[in-house]
Amino acid sequence: MKLHALTTGTVTVKRSFLFPGNGPRRQLNLFLPDAWSDPLPIHCWAIEHDGVLRLIDTGETASARNVPFARMGLTREQELPAAMASAGLRPSDVCEVVLTHTHGDHIDGTVHLRTRVLSNEAELHYLATAMPSVTRRVLRQPLPPRFAPEPLVLDSGPFGAFPRSKALSDDGRIVAVDTPGHTPGHISVICVDDEDRHVMLAGDTTDSLEQLHALRADAVAPHPKVHIATMKTILAHCAQHPTIYLPSHDPDSAARLADATTVSQNGAHHMAHASA
Ligand SMILES: [Zn+2]
Repeated sequence: MKLHALTTGTVTVKRSFLFPGNGPRRQLNLFLPDAWSDPLPIHCWAIEHDGVLRLIDTGETASARNVPFARMGLTREQELPAAMASAGLRPSDVCEVVLTHTHGDHIDGTVHLRTRVLSNEAELHYLATAMPSVTRRVLRQPLPPRFAPEPLVLDSGPFGAFPRSKALSDDGRIVAVDTPGHTPGHISVICVDDEDRHVMLAGDTTDSLEQLHALRADAVAPHPKVHIATMKTILAHCAQHPTIYLPSHDPDSAARLADATTVSQNGAHHMAHASA
């Protein structure tokens, strides 16, 4: 199995996005003047396994508009095809795309693909409700053209600490797990690598490993309690099994993948020896 961290430009976010206030200020602060973060990567991931190339998320495109709490930093030359080329991969070779959730910086790159796209059925239900449609209109963030994912049903039973899952590969080494919170139907994908470690492609479950350990709900989760419960499940999973935790916007994710750095139980993390 071979995993690639792909990068489609960067996003810069307000401090109140990374460190939200409490109560009504949690979301109100996003629209007020604030300090901005350093540029954070917009990662998506390619998995080569058993002759099948899968993408987890598809990154952003240069046409995406900024929103009051996030500024996109990418050119057309940084979109999915270029990100894949830098890993020696081609969009035409992709067999399947699995989306962690339906925010623009994870789905807009689907315009470059002609293959089947899967999204958790709960996320697709949520996408069709009033709140996300209003938000997309207000923030001028339309869905990409021809966006019509097939529903993914998490009916393969528990996987580790996760109560619901779906095996994506025939051998069960690539598994989608239920990680609701950031959005109601958010999923993550766990790959069991050749060293039997779990590589968790975590989407926006948190923005960083620090946020996971801090059990800090983000500013956009509809129900912070659901979000925090998911973080506890992830930590429980990491305690059961050596897990390399890779959120999409964590500046350290690519290095953790390269160095096979797993989350340890005491809140710090340690280096495993990466095999050639
Ligand atoms: Zn998101």
